[in-house]
Amino acid sequence: MTTLSSNSSEPSVLTGQRLSEADYQTNFADIHTPLDARSAIVEADRCYNCYGAPCQTACPTGIDVASFIRMISQNNAVGAAGKILSENIMGGTCARACPVETLCEDACVRHAEGDQPIKIGLLQRFATDRASELGAQFFTREAATGCTVAVVGAGPAGLSCAHRLATLGHEVVIYEALEKSGGLNEYGLAAYKMTEDYAQQEVKDILSIGGIKVKHGIRVGQDVSFAELQTNYDAVFMGVGLGANKDINLDGEEAPGVINAVDYIHQLRQSNDVGQLPVGQNVVVIGGGMTAIDIAIQTKRLGAPNVTMAYRRGKQHMNASLEEQEFALSEGVHIAHWAQPISLIVEQGAITGVEFKMANNESGQTYITPADMLFKAIGQNLAAINMGTIEFVKSHGKYEVDQDLRTSQPGIWAGGDCVAGNDGLAVSAVQDGKLAALSIHHTLTQS
Ligand SMILES: Cc1cc2nc3c(=O)[nH]c(=O)nc-3n(C[C@H](O)[C@H](O)[C@H](O)COP(=O)(O)OP(=O)(O)OC[C@H]3O[C@@H](n4cnc5c(N)ncnc54)[C@H](O)[C@@H]3O)c2cc1C
Repeated sequence: MTTLSSNSSEPSVLTGQRLSEADYQTNFADIHTPLDARSAIVEADRCYNCYGAPCQTACPTGIDVASFIRMISQNNAVGAAGKILSENIMGGTCARACPVETLCEDACVRHAEGDQPIKIGLLQRFATDRASELGAQFFTREAATGCTVAVVGAGPAGLSCAHRLATLGHEVVIYEALEKSGGLNEYGLAAYKMTEDYAQQEVKDILSIGGIKVKHGIRVGQDVSFAELQTNYDAVFMGVGLGANKDINLDGEEAPGVINAVDYIHQLRQSNDVGQLPVGQNVVVIGGGMTAIDIAIQTKRLGAPNVTMAYRRGKQHMNASLEEQEFALSEGVHIAHWAQPISLIVEQGAITGVEFKMANNESGQTYITPADMLFKAIGQNLAAINMGTIEFVKSHGKYEVDQDLRTSQPGIWAGGDCVAGNDGLAVSAVQDGKLAALSIHHTLTQS
């Protein structure tokens, strides 16, 4: 299991405010109020059911949004869930975590007219939650093909691939390095997006199709060789995500108090008592994407009085959407743009501040922001995996794949965050897994 880097600070040296149990419960409760049946129908009735609906085109998994919304308006939530899950088996997570403001809801025709877009995310959540509560089953397995497929990684890409393969009659074995399935749904997404152990509930629903065995605690390349997978299975899918955190490459990076944001969020997500997590008085987050926003808000909600997100370019360049930036600001996070970190100030063996250079003017003006906790949230690289003699063609350090998600190695497909060109969203990983499964099926049954 990932632990906070060995240089992480002892709780005793950090002085961020500790909150009451009740405050923590409020701060980490579901960020969105789910729709009840009545409000779901009222909201669904607002939909124009556009022909050639742009919301469907904007969804990376191509969910037929207009059709599922029509079903909700006809009081058929379970039917709507079937429509959603047939394209996106993680429709429940995506309803909670997709940046809908840049995808389906951004494309909504009502939005283009200057009106509020249809609450597609909340409607999707209403339908998938209702189906899960009722234990609705939408999938049956086709006749057994006699083929077996190894999937490396039980994240969104791996689970999506495994599920589609299982419906098509293949037997699947997933090798997962960690104790639980779900990948970053379980270990990375913000706690207030994935409440009530939702990631595990969804995994349970997905695996209920049958034909999928998950071997936890097995790291491919270490506990089992890649060559063994190639020998023992008819095909291999790699959904290994990323996993190596990028460094900021400044002296002092090893000092106590300098922490990888993803490792900290992993601890937070697995914690039964978030009040025990170390939190600083002055938290600085380096980065401008979703992870940076998430760690900034979560440390604020843990009780850090001063949280600054420092990004080296302007507001419009940030990977985090404008809505996410607004959300962070509304939570009291300060966002410093054009802030290029140039040195870490380490005193008596711990981080005490960060020196920044203004990156948007020639003056080279510098300033220091106090920090007893510094999060690195500037992205991740593909972690090294011992592949033996197998070599893959890579692009920007990630696996290069064709449009059918085939790698350069025959019999091996890959998808999700680990492949070049992927946009780093859960929904895109699900789509990759689905398309790879269709390609694997075609290859195994046509040859
Ligand atoms: C902090 C954070 C917050 C995010 N928030 C959002 C969000 O709100 N919305 C959104 O859409 N996206 C979000 N993302 C992105 C999203 O989580 C990823 O795009 C998605 O999880 C990618 O899925 P994946 O299956 O490719 O990889 P992962 O989810 O990373 O899963 C890969 C799995 O492979 C396993 N694995 C790796 N190597 C091996 C090996 N050698 N052997 C066996 N198993 C292995 C890992 O343990 C892991 O379980 C976030 C990402 C981060 C880091």
